[in-house]
Amino acid sequence: MVVYHKRFLVWWGLSLFLCKLGSRRQLDYQFNTDGPAVLANLNRLAGTAQDSRPVNQTLEYFLEQTGSVPIADLRRRMVQRLIRMKALDPARLQGRFVVLIDGSGYLVFGSPHCDHCLTQQHGETTLYMHQVLEAKLLGPADTVVSIATEFIDNSDAQSTPAGASQEQLKQDCELKALRRLMDGLRGEFPQLRLVFNGDSLYACGEGFQIAKDYRADYIYVFKPGRTPALWQDFQGLLRLCPDQQVEQTTPQGVRQVYRWVNGLDYTDSDGRNWTLNAIECTETTKEGEKSVWSWVTSLEVSHETVVEVATKGGRQRWRTENEGFNTQKNSGLNLEHAYSHTCWAAYYFLLQIAHLLLQLVEKGSLLRHLAQEQGKRTAVQLYGSLKNMAQRLLDSLRYWHWPDEAFDPTAAGSIQIRIDSS
Ligand SMILES: [Zn+2]
Repeated sequence: MVVYHKRFLVWWGLSLFLCKLGSRRQLDYQFNTDGPAVLANLNRLAGTAQDSRPVNQTLEYFLEQTGSVPIADLRRRMVQRLIRMKALDPARLQGRFVVLIDGSGYLVFGSPHCDHCLTQQHGETTLYMHQVLEAKLLGPADTVVSIATEFIDNSDAQSTPAGASQEQLKQDCELKALRRLMDGLRGEFPQLRLVFNGDSLYACGEGFQIAKDYRADYIYVFKPGRTPALWQDFQGLLRLCPDQQVEQTTPQGVRQVYRWVNGLDYTDSDGRNWTLNAIECTETTKEGEKSVWSWVTSLEVSHETVVEVATKGGRQRWRTENEGFNTQKNSGLNLEHAYSHTCWAAYYFLLQIAHLLLQLVEKGSLLRHLAQEQGKRTAVQLYGSLKNMAQRLLDSLRYWHWPDEAFDPTAAGSIQIRIDSS
């Protein structure tokens, strides 16, 4: 019997996502004997001396034994390292890290899959689902770093009455899961100064309370329907504070008018009193198209800070959609694929770690310098697409015996990878 070292198997599993193989079975086809360099490259990455390759079932067996906790812990150690290196600091907002709270569908099955599935009725069909709520730290150059994860299951839906709307169910589940999420996050990162960024679902008493309980600021999307009385106060006070206005035109020619109100009072449905600030941004494009955005926040808003708060805090929300779950679903990482029916959580964390590594490669200075030498601005432009980059990595892993210098920790220690967009 061959025994595989756990470090080797973790790299084996990470490579599934780093090379965007798309399914576990592909490991058996892409990392087999016709990839002559695979074993030596992975052995040196893992610091092991395996003399044969595992099959995909070995990975499954290993993850079933270890569970997801050690893999999640590996993610924590990597993120803590990045924070200690100050690699993520340029993205701070008033000294705080912006943490996006975002929920997503994860796995969907056509038949009951475990005792914890959420169910959704579509006509005659019942879907059995698992959802996930994530805290993603916004780093520089549009990097999005998963720092806490909470899986949502049917226990989160228990207090929602049968027949409630899907919207109500989603709100209840995500607010419940948010408390667990923050519990985990604060356990792992007790000292970080944070500002939560979330959609209008969180702009309510419970959302404010969770931020307070976990010593964080917040900037949430503000919509009239979520807290109608607060919205009316905001609109009324905006008219009374015409001086609280900043105008600017972006390099793309979009005219932005920022207005704000400090010290709005709000009593939530549980009788708790809150004082908060709100910002409105009206944008007009060169073609005359108008859009309006609003946020509530605990951060101080003034002529000096309004643009930064709205831009670094509020507007960055689209990034989770573009750089976060969307990338993980659509770029070959195949988030919604059931890599396993039993230890899917472990695969989820492997995917998050691989995505972090890929972003450091895509957006770090090493490949950017290489790209600039070739007259391109970014690594993605150099290779043509993210898919091409994954293909090149797979080719390289399979056929190129990576030079020994590449594994020298002393030499690696002197390389500083900077993440920035310059
Ligand atoms: Zn299930």
